[in-house]
Amino acid sequence: MQNNIGKKRKNEKENGEKKIKKEKNNITKNIIENFQRKFYSKLKEEEIIYSTDIGCYALGLEPPYNMGDYCISMGSSLGIGCGFSKATNQKVISFIGDSTFFHAGIPPLVNAVHNKDKILLVVMDNRITGMTGGQTNPGVPVDGMGNPAPEVSIEKIARGVGAGLVKTIDPVDLKETEEVFKEALQFEGVAVVITKHPCAMITNAENRKKGISVKYSINQEECTKCLTCVKDFTCPAVYIEKDGSVNINPLLCDGCGVCVQVCPKKAIEVKK
Ligand code: SF4
Ligand code: SF4
Repeated sequence: MQNNIGKKRKNEKENGEKKIKKEKNNITKNIIENFQRKFYSKLKEEEIIYSTDIGCYALGLEPPYNMGDYCISMGSSLGIGCGFSKATNQKVISFIGDSTFFHAGIPPLVNAVHNKDKILLVVMDNRITGMTGGQTNPGVPVDGMGNPAPEVSIEKIARGVGAGLVKTIDPVDLKETEEVFKEALQFEGVAVVITKHPCAMITNAENRKKGISVKYSINQEECTKCLTCVKDFTCPAVYIEKDGSVNINPLLCDGCGVCVQVCPKKAIEVKK
């Protein structure tokens, strides 16, 4: 009798586990199919494939930028991007940060050159390992202990492995940035654009030490509420008030001044 009860319980337990496993498999299958449907329809609709990586720039996946069709794992943006450039006729832009480039971006760059891929790699060199709290990396002239250290040049590495077009720009200069990206997107081969500008965390800390505080504001008499700064440029500091006027939140403004370049009415100025 005891044996029969034991067998029955064992069977019930096994059947329950099988049922849970089957349900889990169905859920996983649905998630994958849903992801693929969205993913492939996105690729179909858009000409450029944006391959992003692990770093603060991965936030560009979100609207309104939508600058990431996928983000898989640290250092994967270039390797996966090269796969897409081979498998499709679409242009691929891979994004990677400076520290991720040193960590895992160099081998896929070597392979991209060797395999004659058509790809644009954007190395966002913000002179810091921003996402994890501001550590150094081999691209800066200071080591982890704060001592002077040799600065390894991303540009020289890219040229050294044979990338056909290599340019370093300051992304704060929007005109130059636009021109260089137009050229790089036309390039038939491996193009590397290094956007070099210190992270706001660095400039803010330096400014605080010097007692400098620069903020921008919007001259309401000049502003036509065209919303270019809100909808196209989308700095988080710029917002629409309840009365419809456009303003800058001084607590969020880093004083970079980039918004000045996008306002067609020159209504954005240094806050007095
Ligand atoms: S871009 Fe210039 S004019 Fe247009 S809403 Fe912004 S501040 Fe106003
Ligand atoms: S100055 Fe820079 S941080 Fe401030 S509102 Fe303009 S773009 Fe944003």
